Amino acid sequence: MKERGIVYLVGAGPGDPGLITEKGLSRLKSCDAVVYDSLASDLLLKAVPDHCEKIYVGKRAGAHSMKQEEINQLLVELAEKGLHIVRLKGGDPFVFGRGGEEIIALQKADIPFEVVSGVTSAVAALASAGIPVTHRALSRSFHVMTGHTLSEGGTLPPDFDAFARLSGTLIFLMGLGNLPLIVKGLIKQGKPDTTPAAVIESGTLPGQKVVRGNLLDLEQKAKDAGIKSPAIIVVGDTAALDFSSTNKLPLEGCRIGITGTPSFTGKLHKELSYLGGTAEQLFSLELKTYWDEERMLKAYKELSGYTWIVFTSANAVREFFVGLMKCGKDYRAVGHVKFATVGKGTADELLKYGFRSDYTPKKYQVIDLAEGLRDEITKEDRLLIPRSSRGSKELNQILNEIKAVYDDVVLYDVVSIEETSGNRLDLINELDYVTFASASGVEAFFEKNSLGAKKSLEDVNVVCIGDITAEALASYGRKADLIAEEYSTQGVAKAICQDWSKKTNGRNGV
Ligand code: SAH
Repeated sequence: MKERGIVYLVGAGPGDPGLITEKGLSRLKSCDAVVYDSLASDLLLKAVPDHCEKIYVGKRAGAHSMKQEEINQLLVELAEKGLHIVRLKGGDPFVFGRGGEEIIALQKADIPFEVVSGVTSAVAALASAGIPVTHRALSRSFHVMTGHTLSEGGTLPPDFDAFARLSGTLIFLMGLGNLPLIVKGLIKQGKPDTTPAAVIESGTLPGQKVVRGNLLDLEQKAKDAGIKSPAIIVVGDTAALDFSSTNKLPLEGCRIGITGTPSFTGKLHKELSYLGGTAEQLFSLELKTYWDEERMLKAYKELSGYTWIVFTSANAVREFFVGLMKCGKDYRAVGHVKFATVGKGTADELLKYGFRSDYTPKKYQVIDLAEGLRDEITKEDRLLIPRSSRGSKELNQILNEIKAVYDDVVLYDVVSIEETSGNRLDLINELDYVTFASASGVEAFFEKNSLGAKKSLEDVNVVCIGDITAEALASYGRKADLIAEEYSTQGVAKAICQDWSKKTNGRNGV
């Protein structure tokens, strides 16, 4: 008999990917398909297994969103195929989330389901803005209402008047379009126009905006601040409190698109998140290795003849040692050599294998490495440079000038696995920075996205690691906005932090 599928109705939380529940995340990590809409964070979608099908059913500019009945039908069909499906919904699935309608459809089709509750924006967006939903002696209850009705012409819900007379904290979801009606209605029902009120846009997300005021001036203030949906309106004495976190991180509110190999972007992602930034992987590069090709095998065999090994990237270090093991040797084969590395990231990678770098230039550039080697090496030395097929020619030029004896051997190549999807390219518009970690990364990005690549980078700050990467970018007609001088993920993060702090001077808090 065919295995029955199951649908997990999972609350994604209010936006900050850290606010999904552990149970919700574990369902995501093992599902075969995820059906999601716009409130689900990209980072959460990263948690799904490789084979998982991602189905977007929300609204997106220019495209039709799926009707609720169609979504219900889709869930049933997927489950009938025997799949484990996560239906990911913003906040909690039942708080104005139409989760109930999906459950009824599943019940009708006799499909097993599980509901995993989520952190609702009705509470979490307030907390993130520093507004407690209740506070001793100030507000003894909180009430959540939709500020939107099905009827045409923008009327308030029929029970609005009774709601308006409640004394606790009043919270309106989906109410931004009706803000003028809401504030007027509340005053009409007897609330003083000095009652504290606030609007929170994109609560818990990097673009969070908070506008505080009272029933009289909130509408104008929200307009002046350009508040957009998704937004929550809060009315009551607690809206005057400000308990927002004092732990402000340097990259708060900053969105960075990252490109590179998984090992690089993985590290950079951690680094940027630690500093409070939001990193989005734009496209992934893959390493193709050649350690088993003739020239490299020969180099491994003749290691005893070399006195220096020069590494111009962390990838080269990693792949060199993988190849060393694969061809039957071990670390003793390089016990006698000296190592030169282009920068800190490369030297740190080497240290992981138990070797200190004997030479790293002060400025982390290939040209400085080459210049520095001028003083380090003698006529007797023989250098091995295992590196990428697109390595800089400057190193060879200088080594030739000083008549160094060296073998420049291709160890790997960086290739793009796929074209950046249209959605990913569109996403760049919303970002503050895009990073490139190597000339090959730049080339892969432009070659695979011949149509949209240059245009997509028009309104974003492009950060390159080192001059060579920046030169590659310039060859496509785009000047780098920032060049990280340190060849490492920390170097990139540092450059962004410095620039972001200049850009956000006085910008925090609307
Ligand atoms: N089920 C969701 C609510 C869905 S209704 C939940 O529990 O949070 C969609 C409305 O939720 C939006 O119109 C907006 O009013 C509110 N909302 C959702 N996420 C929000 C956020 N991060 N910041 C502000 N409002 C948000």
